[in-house]
Amino acid sequence: MSEITVVGAGLAGLVAARELVLQGHSVRVLEASERIGGQLASAEVAGRRIDVGALQLDARDDAVSTLLHRLDDAPALITARPLRWWLATPSGVHPLPSVHWWGVPAAPLAADAVAITGRRAAWRGMLDSLLPGPRGASAATLDELVRVRMGTGIAERLVAPVVEAQTGRAAHHVPLADVPGLRHLMLQQNSLARAVTSLRLDDRENAEYVSIAGGPSRLIDAIAAELERFGVTIELNAHVDEVIDEGVVVAGVLRPGPIVLAAPLTAANPGSRTIVTVVLDADRITSGARDAGVLADRGRRDGVRRVLDLTALWPALLQGETTSTVLRVEGSAAMTIDGAVRAVGELWGEWDIEQAVLGTQRSTWASAASPAESVAAEHPECVVAVVGEHAHGGGIARVIGTTIETVSALAPESPPPVRPDDGGV
Ligand SMILES: Cc1cc2nc3c(=O)[nH]c(=O)nc-3n(C[C@H](O)[C@H](O)[C@H](O)COP(=O)(O)OP(=O)(O)OC[C@H]3O[C@@H](n4cnc5c(N)ncnc54)[C@H](O)[C@@H]3O)c2cc1C
Repeated sequence: MSEITVVGAGLAGLVAARELVLQGHSVRVLEASERIGGQLASAEVAGRRIDVGALQLDARDDAVSTLLHRLDDAPALITARPLRWWLATPSGVHPLPSVHWWGVPAAPLAADAVAITGRRAAWRGMLDSLLPGPRGASAATLDELVRVRMGTGIAERLVAPVVEAQTGRAAHHVPLADVPGLRHLMLQQNSLARAVTSLRLDDRENAEYVSIAGGPSRLIDAIAAELERFGVTIELNAHVDEVIDEGVVVAGVLRPGPIVLAAPLTAANPGSRTIVTVVLDADRITSGARDAGVLADRGRRDGVRRVLDLTALWPALLQGETTSTVLRVEGSAAMTIDGAVRAVGELWGEWDIEQAVLGTQRSTWASAASPAESVAAEHPECVVAVVGEHAHGGGIARVIGTTIETVSALAPESPPPVRPDDGGV
């Protein structure tokens, strides 16, 4: 049986390698960087291993639990604590309304909503319950719908900052279709606020995400340990420069044989997403807690988008250590370590924050590159499958699900034979 080369040792490449081995293939994985895992990554900060890439998984997709079930020594799935987010506004940092959906309040006149929007905007928001049910239902975006039903005050002071901080996208760019069920429920209940109440009664916000004890990068450890037991070689610092009809080319040398592409091959846009991890001495933090964390005010020049309190939100992610507080600051490429620490001080009202810092780490992530599918189309003789975020969309659960589906569709005998005259180039 010919050996299959998997290009890329991110989640998709490792899951693909495992599936191929289970199909009876001999497999080799080539990874361009000096470590495996791709966007599932951890770093040592103040003596603790902390994930600095992807953080949570979509719980509605059972691909992850199915994989965990099949892995030896699989890490456990964990749930987030159902904590509120706070929002930084020109009048201070306030907890978000206790019932809201993407910032759309279920009770515009409740004290927590009024503290953010002001009373005038809140009264305008109440008009929603008097408007005919279908009013606004043809809106293309969430922003448009909220403006029609609840007015510009709520759209601009509550919904826009929440959507921007949580997703990195402007609310007027979020199609209504991306907020599943909202339009349907609004038409059913004749009110946007009541639709939001129903969505929250489903408890979907808290049930939507799970993570992995110790961090999602533990999943990479578990798959890699299994591949090692299967005898799969993973070559690091092996950048695939080119795919040709006979195989892949690494540093000018042909590696002949069938290929599974789990990397885009074209360059991604560097540095578009930045994470700064800040570990603080818990005993030196004097100000009040911010529950899940704080959504930053819009248009900050330091690039900070939101600060998550990992210790509060995902205690099992950090495996129970309580003497320090671990914050994850998310933002744009403009965000520096100093800027992130200063922002934490401001958002927590902790003016001597530098005294409490035990360690920091900054990671930058490229935005997705274009898919390798065109490469595959040009070399159908050797590329037997294309998997991963670049080809089937991002997200841990989706990458696992689509990779298993794609690779299991390959019959064990489907890889083409290696041509006998293959040699170096
Ligand atoms: C900061 C951040 C937060 C995220 N948060 C979440 C989250 O909370 N929930 C969620 O579900 N998803 C999240 N994601 C997305 C998720 O992590 C990715 O969708 C998923 O990990 C992609 O896996 P992949 O294997 O397809 O790609 P990658 O992880 O990008 O792996 C590709 C691998 O191929 C290698 N490679 C590239 N080119 C070559 C080459 N020419 N030759 C050899 N090797 C090559 C790369 O070095 C890399 O190791 C997040 C991502 C980031 C960066």
